[in-house]
Amino acid sequence: MSEATIIDGKAFAARLRETVAAEVAALKADHGVTPGLAVVLVGEDPASQVYVRNKGEQTTAAGMYSETHRLAADTPEPELFALIDRLNDDPAIHGILVQFPVPDHLSQDRIVARISPDKDVDGLTVTNAGRLASGLPALTSCTPVGCMMLLKDALGDLRGKHAVVIGRSNLMGKPMAQLLLAADCTVTIAHSRTVDLPAICRQADILVAAVGRAEMVRGDWIKPGAAVIDVGITRFPSRDPEKAAQGKTRLVGDVAFDEAKAVAGWITPVPGGVGPMTIACLLQNTVTAARRLNGIA
Ligand code: NAP
Repeated sequence: MSEATIIDGKAFAARLRETVAAEVAALKADHGVTPGLAVVLVGEDPASQVYVRNKGEQTTAAGMYSETHRLAADTPEPELFALIDRLNDDPAIHGILVQFPVPDHLSQDRIVARISPDKDVDGLTVTNAGRLASGLPALTSCTPVGCMMLLKDALGDLRGKHAVVIGRSNLMGKPMAQLLLAADCTVTIAHSRTVDLPAICRQADILVAAVGRAEMVRGDWIKPGAAVIDVGITRFPSRDPEKAAQGKTRLVGDVAFDEAKAVAGWITPVPGGVGPMTIACLLQNTVTAARRLNGIA
């Protein structure tokens, strides 16, 4: 059997960012609206700092307005909430994203609840999660939206396919399962208590791994010809000792790529698969929010 087709998320995301940039230009020209995204980072988690910088740069590159708020790790909750309230009320801001994880003294649930659902471009509020589950228009978590774009591009019609999603987080697993269900897949959600996970995975025409355990999914867990979407990211020190000494890392996915590639029909690499789609979809969600907030169809 031939090797899997590699799904090039980097190239797909670059095209999506171009589409978004064109939409932004049209919104400005036709309606005088510049979509604006505010990103809030509390503390100095190194990976979060990279994500936040990339988000700011790509927002500006798409012609959008970008604000980044960097708060000290010991910022009290009322101070963070006052900022979120201000952003909720700011007409120049259409999307608000608080970068998680946050320091332990802050509650992720309380932060999410503070964000206006109309500006919740991460799709984490109860309102947006409920709207997604009810089949209503929603702002939906960026990474699952990106995974769906890659799957539809690779496979076309997803109807009737058995999709197995490993992971059930509010950010990833649950919205992913909802989107697959909405695309008429038969969906199984697996998690840390699932019995005989390899046997469940072997039934999957579409396998989405969103766990965060490096190379957990082995080649013999995969049905021949399946589409494998690897969301997981685990950071290890760079293999180059000099780079490792500088704190440089390498990313490893949840899927043992070389083994899986020999069995699957399609597969996303790590890096260069799902990862680049996340920010591109964040930009798109911000444009969607800007349209809705301004009553533009
Ligand atoms: P999370 O909140 O930690 O959730 C992980 C999920 O994996 C949980 O539902 C957990 O099950 C399940 N799990 C843990 N160990 C397992 C095992 N041995 N077998 C089966 N399931 C197991 O993480 P997340 O936010 O969903 O993210 C998942 C991964 O995706 C992480 O590596 C993250 O870095 C990555 N990620 C990447 C992007 C991107 O842009 N590419 C975006 C978001 C997330 P329980 O619920 O039973 O604990």
